[in-house]
Amino acid sequence: MTCLDARKRIYDYLNNKLSEDELKPFIDHVGNCKECMEELRITHMVYSGVAELDSDKDTDIDIDGALKKSITDAKFRLFRGFVRKIMIMVVDTIVFWAVLVMLIMQFRIWIF
Ligand SMILES: [Zn+2]
Repeated sequence: MTCLDARKRIYDYLNNKLSEDELKPFIDHVGNCKECMEELRITHMVYSGVAELDSDKDTDIDIDGALKKSITDAKFRLFRGFVRKIMIMVVDTIVFWAVLVMLIMQFRIWIF
């Protein structure tokens, strides 16, 4: 992913609109690119600042902490997606073998 692609996705990222396929290269990019991370940090700050003004909370706003948490959440989401894919693969494999074994047993009943 180029810096231009990453920056185009910052708003979508902050609005949770990135699909898993888009999220992974984005997170990888901002993790390795200081300029894009700074851009994300600033945009996130503006965004969450606006969100905080809307709500009546007058607590200390831990914006950098919130961004770190958001990125951790995104990584966790990607990890969950990865685990889900593995699970589906495992279940598919088990179903395939179960069906195959059942067919073989059925054939044995028919043939012998
Ligand atoms: Zn970049």
